[in-house]
Amino acid sequence: MTNKTFKEFVSRIETYYSTSSNPVRIDEWAIKEYYNACFCVFDKDAKAFYSEIVSVFKFFPKVSEFREVAEKYRDKQNKTRHINTEFCYCCMNTGIVPYFKKGLKPFLEHEYEFVSRCYCESGKNRPDWPLCTAVVTQGELEWKARENYKKFGNIKSEEKHRAKEYVTTFIKGFGI
Ligand SMILES: [Zn+2]
Repeated sequence: MTNKTFKEFVSRIETYYSTSSNPVRIDEWAIKEYYNACFCVFDKDAKAFYSEIVSVFKFFPKVSEFREVAEKYRDKQNKTRHINTEFCYCCMNTGIVPYFKKGLKPFLEHEYEFVSRCYCESGKNRPDWPLCTAVVTQGELEWKARENYKKFGNIKSEEKHRAKEYVTTFIKGFGI
């Protein structure tokens, strides 16, 4: 789900669960957790996701409840899985290219980490994320790929297991 759709979704869901005596508002500290819980839902499925949430939960759902419903929509998108034919050192075949951005409220000097999709085939599994070339410079992408190649390009077979674990842990961090 893109940020724009998510904001609209949140405001609709807050309105739905609000009463005149008890307005519902997701706390700014919790909003990121809610976003993480449902970013796997495609924009085109946002309406269906909303309908399901309001029909299943009588009271405002917890993050874990959101995640449970959102997971169903993830299965849908996984039906067409794009797989790299050549190994991509830019994203290590995860399709994910993390990037940093600062100047955001409330901590303007703090660098926040975001994710973008790689330009390779695996990146197509995340069509809702911004394309890495739009948020990271070409030079940085080349640097990333070179560094990964240096680290993993000539990996020995006994190190492969450890490298796989590293990538699996990294992917888990993004809830994928
Ligand atoms: Zn890639």
